Amino acid sequence: MDPEPGALDRACAHAVDWLDSLPDRPVPPRASVAGVADALGRELPDGPTDPADVVDLLATASEPGLTAMPAGRFFGFVIGGTHPAALAADWLVSAWDQNAGLRTVTPAATAVEDVAEAWVVDLLGLPAGAAVGFVTGGTMANFTCLAAGRDAVLRRAGWDVAARGLVGSPGVRVLVGEERHDSVDLVLRYLGLGEPEPVAADDQGRVVVDALRAALEDGDPRPTVVSLQAGNVHSGAFDPFAEAITVAHEHGAWVHVDGAFGLFAGASASYRHLVRGYEDADSWASDAHKTLNVPYDCGLAIVRDPADLRAAMSMVGPYLIQDAAGDPFEKVPELSRRNRAATVWAVLRALGRSGVEELVDRMAGHAATFATGIAALPGAEVLHDVVFTQVCASFGDDDRTRGVVARMLEDGTAWTSGSTWHDRAVLRLSVSNWSTSDDDVARTLDALGRAAATG
Ligand SMILES: *Cc1c(COP(=O)(O)O)cnc(C)c1O
Repeated sequence: MDPEPGALDRACAHAVDWLDSLPDRPVPPRASVAGVADALGRELPDGPTDPADVVDLLATASEPGLTAMPAGRFFGFVIGGTHPAALAADWLVSAWDQNAGLRTVTPAATAVEDVAEAWVVDLLGLPAGAAVGFVTGGTMANFTCLAAGRDAVLRRAGWDVAARGLVGSPGVRVLVGEERHDSVDLVLRYLGLGEPEPVAADDQGRVVVDALRAALEDGDPRPTVVSLQAGNVHSGAFDPFAEAITVAHEHGAWVHVDGAFGLFAGASASYRHLVRGYEDADSWASDAHKTLNVPYDCGLAIVRDPADLRAAMSMVGPYLIQDAAGDPFEKVPELSRRNRAATVWAVLRALGRSGVEELVDRMAGHAATFATGIAALPGAEVLHDVVFTQVCASFGDDDRTRGVVARMLEDGTAWTSGSTWHDRAVLRLSVSNWSTSDDDVARTLDALGRAAATG
């Protein structure tokens, strides 16, 4: 095989240039979609181009249209950065090109996945033996876990979804906090379960346990799934797991926890109190591409009883070479899949227990610094208790807040985003990058001060 090392060398050089530019480049992109498409060239070429030249073209055409998402001053959405060990491991994953579905066909990929699975479960203090499916992100992790939950509660009610589908079944009732992430509603659509029933949340966005109890006791005979949340995208708040899970289990419900970024609070002695009792749930979804800082895309679908996950996700095929010990594809919706667990293994191997704890503590510490700094700005107000990595602030009335959001983007020092929370326009900050430094926080607070002083 001629692997065109020239193309790989150039990709490496472009990648290093990009990473070197992150500390100082403006966070927003300079080019538009149309500008980059023009630079790439819109005509499909009639014949071949040297791969090294293709890489050069892709890099130079794309560069002005790249958003500095992996930079230490990107605080939009919940994005995460990329730890160097995970990035480098991801390159190897592409080069090795293992289809990581079958245990014995790709032993290296399976071994990495087995070890990463055990480490994640151990690090988070979840029940030993829980299964981890390495999926594309939080949405698919929620999908995978809630599929296992749907099938399990119906099975207990004497209904086999795999054989009979949902039509004619007793149905499944899904109770969610009023402030669950919207992707939970999306996956319930995929699962044929329709809209969930919202349960009241308190002023921080946490499920109110008495309201959950009242819903569970209202006489609805259907099998029930309760979906809780570790980390509200606005306030960062965590549902009261110990109490909520106890009540839900008393009523025979399957309890799921969406912890896309917040599950990793469980890896820190200083923040573990936020997830107290979460280990009693039946399934947990998280992202590795958020708090854990592996590159896109990587989510973690964790299910207490591996048999429940396998029952929902497994298949058999005469041409597959399946192993009695269980195959990686039996834990995820996909059959063919890259070995993304290698990125999780790499970051955990590089950081170790103390490194992950320090990572979580640093992010939450920066969020606390933001909260203090913002509260000191004229007219500004942080709208919730800052318990983890998220901060939502108002700068007075909604127009003024939206103006600050817009001026922050124009300024380009940092990326913060706007949203609406509790009927108020807010500026949102999410700290989720390993590389965010004290200096990044200070520069962002300066920019916020300038944006809040104008207009
Ligand atoms: C980001 C997020 C999701 C969705 O995760 P993706 O990786 O974007 O699919 C789900 N729930 C919560 C709480 C999130 O923060």
